[in-house]
Amino acid sequence: MIAPQPDVDLDALQERIRERAAGIHAQTAELARDLAVYDDHNGWCGKGMRDCADWVTCNLGFNPQNAKALMVAAQAARELPEVGEAFSAGELSVDKVRLLAPVVAPDDQTGWIRMAVESSSAEVARRCREARSAERVGPERDRAHRAQRRLHTWYDEENFFRISGALPPDEGAMIQIAIDSAGRRLDTLRSDHHLVDLDPADDPIHARKADALVLLCTEAVLGEPRADRASSPPVQMVVHVDYDVLTGANPAGRGHIEDGPALSTPTLRRLGCDSTVKTLIERDGVPIAVGREKPAVPPAMKLKVRSRDGICVYPGCPRPAARCEAHHIHHWAGGGPTELWNLAALCKGHHTRHHDGEFDIHRTPEGDLRFVGRDGKEVGRVTGGHWKRPRSRAGP
Ligand SMILES: [Zn+2]
Ligand SMILES: [Zn+2]
Repeated sequence: MIAPQPDVDLDALQERIRERAAGIHAQTAELARDLAVYDDHNGWCGKGMRDCADWVTCNLGFNPQNAKALMVAAQAARELPEVGEAFSAGELSVDKVRLLAPVVAPDDQTGWIRMAVESSSAEVARRCREARSAERVGPERDRAHRAQRRLHTWYDEENFFRISGALPPDEGAMIQIAIDSAGRRLDTLRSDHHLVDLDPADDPIHARKADALVLLCTEAVLGEPRADRASSPPVQMVVHVDYDVLTGANPAGRGHIEDGPALSTPTLRRLGCDSTVKTLIERDGVPIAVGREKPAVPPAMKLKVRSRDGICVYPGCPRPAARCEAHHIHHWAGGGPTELWNLAALCKGHHTRHHDGEFDIHRTPEGDLRFVGRDGKEVGRVTGGHWKRPRSRAGP
């Protein structure tokens, strides 16, 4: 470690750091106020964005969680004027305002603000959590637990599969029992077969839980492990669609999930971009022959698209390409070829919005992509020339 320079006045430095942080909070409050107005006027609409927070993520360099926090704080600062004032004065950070938002009532702001100014973010989080659970008891709390149940799964920037969620306590207990029992089966399996872990876990107790969850899910998909079984999951979504719907020859044609709801034409076309196609030859609605299954984009090609693009190609979108779909720039349904220069990684949200017509993707002669909103204005572009059409090919 480098020894501190003797001529640095640490007290003065600390004071300056505090002042700068307060300045940032005050600036953030201004930013939040502008964003609330921008959101009121739907400034982000028609460009392929999910919501204003998505616009913040794509355009301002915030990650999705921080963008959401900013929007929550923006709303709170408006509905709770005293909180808004403390935010503008640099006394409260965006994190603290976001925590206060769901628990503070308009006639009860002063005490909460004093506590939040004097406490760390972690302490504010704890107090707010307590207030929220004290608010509800009995059947009301049960209902809230049911209403707020959720499970999020995603891949982070290190390609870890992440899980986060919240469940009513009884359902959580059921999951806990299942994980514990799978953990015990794993222990038995490992000791019976003298299995040595080649990648010893940093945190063996929690790694065992993770392994138990994977065991449960693998069994749910493949059944009990058996040597003679194929390794790919026997699960697929079957969508019936008239070919003419995909080509646009009959936009009013039908398409639906097998034994399920009808799907819109844009959805059917999006599914056509990146799906496994199994041809059913039908006569009067009765299948008379079944063709071979063929993925619209072969796995090796999809891997190339993902590794080339890295993230969703929509300008500013941070979603990793590993979670993206392979989109045909010249649409597959319109005869666009499944070749690297005609494919781009798009996350599900942007893929859906593109096929819904919220924005266009234009290929420049140099092979770059221009993203154009409904209003005709350019949203952004991706350079690098990866999408240059080979000379021999014609088409859009
Ligand atoms: Zn597509
Ligand atoms: Zn995206």
